[in-house]
Amino acid sequence: MKKRTIPYDVIIVGAGFGGLTAAACLAHKGQRVLLCERSGELGGCAGRFERGGYRFASGATVGMGFEPGGVLHDLYSRLRIPLPEWKEPPVIMDIHLPDGAFPYWRSKANWYVEAARQFPTESARVIAFFEEAFQVARLLEPVIRRRPLFPPTDAATAVRLLSLADSQTVRLLPFLTSTIADRLKRFDLEKARRFLCFLNGQLIDSVQTTAEQCPAFLGYAALSTFHRGAFAIRGGLASVAEDLARSIIGDGGEIRRHCDIRTVERRAAGWLATNQYGEGFVGKKLVLNNSLHSLHRLLPEGLRKAVAVDAAHEQRRPAWGAFVLYLGCNDEGNLPGSGMVHQNSTPDSRLFHQFIGSYDLPPTEGNQFLLSLSSPEDRLFAPAGKRSITISTHTAVAQWWEPSRYDSLKAAYQQRILDTVARSFPGFPATIEQVLPGTPVTWERFTGRHQGKVGGYIPTGPFSWLHNYPVRSGLSDLWFCGDTVFPGAGTLGTALSGMTVADQMTG
Ligand SMILES: Cc1cc2nc3c(=O)[nH]c(=O)nc-3n(C[C@H](O)[C@H](O)[C@H](O)COP(=O)(O)OP(=O)(O)OC[C@H]3O[C@@H](n4cnc5c(N)ncnc54)[C@H](O)[C@@H]3O)c2cc1C
Repeated sequence: MKKRTIPYDVIIVGAGFGGLTAAACLAHKGQRVLLCERSGELGGCAGRFERGGYRFASGATVGMGFEPGGVLHDLYSRLRIPLPEWKEPPVIMDIHLPDGAFPYWRSKANWYVEAARQFPTESARVIAFFEEAFQVARLLEPVIRRRPLFPPTDAATAVRLLSLADSQTVRLLPFLTSTIADRLKRFDLEKARRFLCFLNGQLIDSVQTTAEQCPAFLGYAALSTFHRGAFAIRGGLASVAEDLARSIIGDGGEIRRHCDIRTVERRAAGWLATNQYGEGFVGKKLVLNNSLHSLHRLLPEGLRKAVAVDAAHEQRRPAWGAFVLYLGCNDEGNLPGSGMVHQNSTPDSRLFHQFIGSYDLPPTEGNQFLLSLSSPEDRLFAPAGKRSITISTHTAVAQWWEPSRYDSLKAAYQQRILDTVARSFPGFPATIEQVLPGTPVTWERFTGRHQGKVGGYIPTGPFSWLHNYPVRSGLSDLWFCGDTVFPGAGTLGTALSGMTVADQMTG
């Protein structure tokens, strides 16, 4: 084995949003960092790939937290790098329900007018529900800003957590002990079918579950985040990954692509991480961003029991996979959004679209999906007159690992999704120049995430947030970041975990 003699301060495994953020913050604080990424691309689930003249966003498309005071805005300020270019449409996304479409406005005032139009018999209660959501999000903001370590792993972190309790935060208690479904009952909205269908579509996309199982404070935080802005970053969220990479290099850090770390071991000097070529890297500290789904295959037998994550427990915890369609299209006026007239409407107003095929099926497995178009002016995604589209739906992973079903499943999901879009936009199929499907098998191949599980864990009830895994591993100088640890999924949540790890390491 070739062992590199340069001892790094910190080795980070995985260049997803968690690992990139941790590496960038650490390098900026003068730490000597090495970031190892198994693939040739940065950004993981929020990365990109190029095919047939198009750039495709591999998974995440909707940027959040770029508004002043937002997590990503703060990260860019901290690193002293210029913010990326973006479009921030006045409409978060168009919602296409089985019986009609409407714009989901970013501004509260516009949204309440729209909500009254869309849910006329319960509009006052829908507005009261959203008012509560915004109020809870406001209460949560100072807590998030202080980046607590959760769950507490020792007396010091427990004391720090308790110190957050004050007359404002205790007002959060009812929302820490109930679900969104419980709150809906309070507003007599639990049977409002059309509203519930819309709401569950929003929740599954942001919190990975529907009202019944979604802790109230989490659902409320997610709902209000969209109203602070849904940003379409020029070149996609991969541009943010590239900005962070430039910052790492500029601050003296190293990034190694095609560097698949196969084992990590304790050494007197810290940690030894060894890649697929037998090349070893020594770091005083180690951060793992390769998802807890894949943690145990990296650790030697002796360490598996010592970490704060029990392998059997982790494998039992539910997590979704994603079925994704990548489409290269001609922009001939038949794409989703064409012909939909909104106030302040331009083609850039309508980059994100949520489709729900049927009221009678769960918002997963192609019945609900998010369709994201590149901006017509974004030449990083597609040449003039063409647009790149990423469509994604939640799917149970196990079915995709049965070879006998794989091809037929893939064809059926693709057809179902394209049929649903064509129902609203009949000219759409004719615009498609190329179509590439991605399944959990694809996700495992490209991100190394076990069985292609993505997007963190699925909340399973009012207290499921208590079962988050912490960023502290339980072993000295070994940390976790990414969407399988607190605070959880999304580029915003994973960036927060990366910042927390960096702050904890450097004091
Ligand atoms: C289809 C889809 C749509 C989504 N949409 C949105 C959205 O619109 N907005 C949003 O904010 N979030 C969205 N998300 C969620 C968001 O993308 C993820 O939660 C987040 O990007 C995960 O970041 P991460 O750092 O946890 O891990 P990952 O992105 O999984 O990154 C981990 C990295 O580690 C690398 N790696 C793994 N093992 C090794 C190893 N052994 N050695 C070296 N490198 C390794 C992988 O190649 C990968 O690059 C979406 C997710 C998916 C799948």
